[in-house]
Amino acid sequence: MVKAIDMKCSSCGKEVEAEQNWVEFDCPSCKKDHIIRCEKCKQLENTYECSNCGFVGP
Ligand SMILES: [Zn+2]
Ligand SMILES: [Zn+2]
Repeated sequence: MVKAIDMKCSSCGKEVEAEQNWVEFDCPSCKKDHIIRCEKCKQLENTYECSNCGFVGP
């Protein structure tokens, strides 16, 4: 089976497929990059960076 997108946390790079509490959303700035955050990074409020426009945010 081919995965459409890489299910990895955009902050720490951890694979989130086996996790339950993670979120995915499009970059709030350019709406082009797909951001994934694991539960840990949500709790720690780790930052992510959009690979398309360089937007950094929680
Ligand atoms: Zn993470
Ligand atoms: Zn962006």
